[in-house]
Amino acid sequence: MAPYVLASSAIMNTGKATPTENDHRSPANVGTCSLVGAGPGDPELLTLKALKAIQAATVLLVDDLVSDAVLALAAPTARIVRVGKRGGCTSTPQAFVEKLTLMAVRDGQTVVRLKGGDPLVFGRGGEELAHLQAAGIPVDVINGITAGFAAATSLGVPLTHRNHAHGVVFITGHARPGDAATDWKALAAAAHSARLTLVIYMGLSNAAHIQSELLHGLPADTPAAVLQNVSLPTQRCACTTLGALHTTIEREQLASPCIIVIGDVLHGLMQLPLPTALCA
Ligand code: SAH
Repeated sequence: MAPYVLASSAIMNTGKATPTENDHRSPANVGTCSLVGAGPGDPELLTLKALKAIQAATVLLVDDLVSDAVLALAAPTARIVRVGKRGGCTSTPQAFVEKLTLMAVRDGQTVVRLKGGDPLVFGRGGEELAHLQAAGIPVDVINGITAGFAAATSLGVPLTHRNHAHGVVFITGHARPGDAATDWKALAAAAHSARLTLVIYMGLSNAAHIQSELLHGLPADTPAAVLQNVSLPTQRCACTTLGALHTTIEREQLASPCIIVIGDVLHGLMQLPLPTALCA
C-alpha cells in the first residue's frame, strides 16, 4: 500500500507523524489532481464533469461536508481518505492535507481532492490550489454548486430578484483567528443602501453578534431564513426576521452546517404557507 495511505490513518489518529513530501517517484509516474466540488450533498446536484472525475479517481481525499451518497459514486477500488475534522481526529491540519495530496499525485495516483459545495468558495480551496501549483502540479478545478445557491433554490427564492435586490454577498460569519473581524455594521449599511442579499456561511455560532451588528443598518423586520443540511433528506429550514434570528436558531435547535439568508428577496416566502418539512 502506498505510504501516504498508511500515513493517513496513523497520523490522523495520533497527530504525531508527518508524511514525507520527498518520497516520490520519477516525473513520468506523476499522477493527476483534480480539485472537485461535491455540491451541497444531493448527488444529483453534481456536475457531469465532477461525476466523471469521482468515478475515475484512484484516491479521493474528502472533506467533512461531502455526503455519503456522493462518495458511493466512487469506484469500489478507490481509496477514500476522510481528511476533515470529523474524519477520525479532532482536527486535520491544513498542511497535512496538502502534503497528503501532493504525495498521492507523486505516487502516480488519479487524485480527486473532493470538497463540499464549490471547491473555491470558502473552505481553503484556494490555499490548496496554490500549494499544489507551487509544487508544479497542474490542477483541474471542477465547480460544484455552492451551499448558498442550493439553499436559496430549495426555497424557490431568487437571490437577485430585481424587485428586491441589486446583488448578493456571500460572506463568512467566522473570521479566521488573527484576522480583523467583519465590519457587520458597514455591511448592513451597504446592504440597505445598495439593496444586497446577504448569504452567510459558517455564521451559526456567531449569529447573536451578527444579528445585533446588522440591526444597526437593516430593519428588524428584514426577512431571514436559516437552512440546515441543504439538499439532503435531513434538510431543515426556519423562516424568521433579522430581529428574531438568534432566538429562532435557538428555539429550532438548528445545527451546523447552516446557511443564513437575509434580505427582502425572502419577502414572498414569508407570505407563503410553506410545508413544515421545508420550513419549520
Ligand atoms: N465550499 C463550500 C463552503 C465551505 S465552508 C460551498 O461552496 O458550499 C462550510 C460552510 O458551508 C458550512 O459551515 C455551512 O455554512 C455551509 N454549508 C456547506 N454545505 C452545506 C449544506 N449542505 N447545508 C447548509 N450549509 C452548508
